[in-house]
Amino acid sequence: MLGLPFLVLLFMLATAVGAAVTAVGWRRRKAAPAVAALALLSAAIVVWSAADALAFLIHDPVVGHVVRVVKFLGVCAIPAGFFCLSHAVLDRAWRLSRRTALLLVIEPVLILAVNVTDPWHHLFFLPPDPADPVTFTRPGFAPLFWVHTAYSYLLIGSGLARLVRGWVRGPRLQRRLYGVVLLGCLLPGLANVVAIAWGDYATDLTPIGFCVTAVATYWALVHHSLPELIPVARDRVFDLIGDTVTTLDASGRLLDLNSAAEQMLRQLAPDLPDRLVGYSFEKEFGGLPPPDGGETDLILTDREGRRLELNVRTSPLHDNRSQRVGWVMVARDVTAINGQRRELEQANARLHEQLRTIELLRADLAEQAVRDALTGLYNRRYLLEALERLAAECAVRSRPLSLALLDVDHFKQVNDRYGHAAGDEVLVRFARCLAEEAEGTAGAGVVAARYGGEEFVLVFAGADGAAARARVEALRVRVAAEPVRTGGRSVPVTFSAGVACLAGGQSLEGLLHAADEALYAAKRAGRNRVEPAAVADDHASGTAA
Ligand code: GH3
Ligand code: MG
Ligand code: MG
Repeated sequence: MLGLPFLVLLFMLATAVGAAVTAVGWRRRKAAPAVAALALLSAAIVVWSAADALAFLIHDPVVGHVVRVVKFLGVCAIPAGFFCLSHAVLDRAWRLSRRTALLLVIEPVLILAVNVTDPWHHLFFLPPDPADPVTFTRPGFAPLFWVHTAYSYLLIGSGLARLVRGWVRGPRLQRRLYGVVLLGCLLPGLANVVAIAWGDYATDLTPIGFCVTAVATYWALVHHSLPELIPVARDRVFDLIGDTVTTLDASGRLLDLNSAAEQMLRQLAPDLPDRLVGYSFEKEFGGLPPPDGGETDLILTDREGRRLELNVRTSPLHDNRSQRVGWVMVARDVTAINGQRRELEQANARLHEQLRTIELLRADLAEQAVRDALTGLYNRRYLLEALERLAAECAVRSRPLSLALLDVDHFKQVNDRYGHAAGDEVLVRFARCLAEEAEGTAGAGVVAARYGGEEFVLVFAGADGAAARARVEALRVRVAAEPVRTGGRSVPVTFSAGVACLAGGQSLEGLLHAADEALYAAKRAGRNRVEPAAVADDHASGTAA
């Protein structure tokens, strides 16, 4: 058997350690419900072990009785504390409900009453034998003691079963915590079984065992349980986030708000009370959020007259019976971001306008690159490209393609006689006639171009030599009939033309050459006439297609 002074010391040590865990746990009780449950368990250890230490030192039966009554308050609180601890360790959202608390208090209250009255009925402890001084301090166990023991084992057993289940099925990270608590329970369990089997409750080392459980659990909670620390982090995050978070009850009173929300409310309303929790949000801001929540944008003016744009998201809160009990509102100050968005939109619009201008300029430049500056007709470069394209299309569709080379007659004389400006005017008017010829057949594949100097080309895609010649002939008649009026004078204008039709296998250079030959023939034949090209002889041009 352990020596008396040693036992007293051991119980006093357990009292001190229990008190330390109680104090630290109580201070940190808000961090996690498990820490609060641990504080309760440790407080029970303090009462039990302090009473056990005292019991060794007291020999007066009445004082001994009082100490024993107090001790059983601690003894009864341990299963209740362990029950809460097992729940809270497994589920950090667990909270001790009022109903559970009431149920847990029933047994300790009954045991208290039984213990106070025990000297009269001896239903808890057997009556001490006056002949045996030992039984005075260490009485035997009566039926109600066994009822109490069974109840305590049941409560602790349910907590152990819960922890074992958590240890088997729970998340890997948490298993260590559950394992530490379970291991910590081995010692008090063993101590208690030994003490009861021995029938010697004074040397019951159970509180010392529970002291080890409490210290180990506290250590595991603080050092190895990330989720237990999350509520602390969550509270800090809640206060650190820039968005305002507000919880309202069903009547529109503020239940909770973070620092950002408090700051925003004070910015909006001048005379708010110091304590905003419980304050009527509805009264101040003229209405409750929509019943089903939602998202809305508000434009408000703060107390200094500044415009405030808020994006408010509201979500209703419901209780277990799906009754709406309030709302949670998250508001974000979007004034700056909206301003930036608007600036960005304006910059974007300006950019679009500039892009449009650039595109117009580019198109204009592209057009200029293919146009002749004086007459506005297509230039030679474009003509050669268009000719290639049209020839390929006609070849695919087995359609003819003809080309007329037109040259103003005696144009040098026009310049000489009327001046260069008048010559330009004649070229412009003549070009207009050609353009009209091309436009008049929109989509029919007639292209008019200035070939160089006072020479022009008409391409007739889809027209054979005869058809093209007929059209050029009509044009010749028209031009000859309408002298150009410039500088108050009338300038007669005629042109000669050679018309060639693209023959199979003929190159485009060959075609141009043939038309040129025909034009030359027209000049030789007296001008102001349209001549067909001789039958294509591609070898004459010296170029193969
Ligand atoms: P032909 O009937 O044989 O064609 O005689 P022509 O005088 O028309 O032919 P020639 O080749 O001898 O003269 C062409 C003239 O056209 C020479 C040139 O000064 C003039 N010319 C060329 N380009 C322009 C221009 O852009 N403006 C003006 N005003 N004259 C031009
Ligand atoms: Mg010429
Ligand atoms: Mg000429």
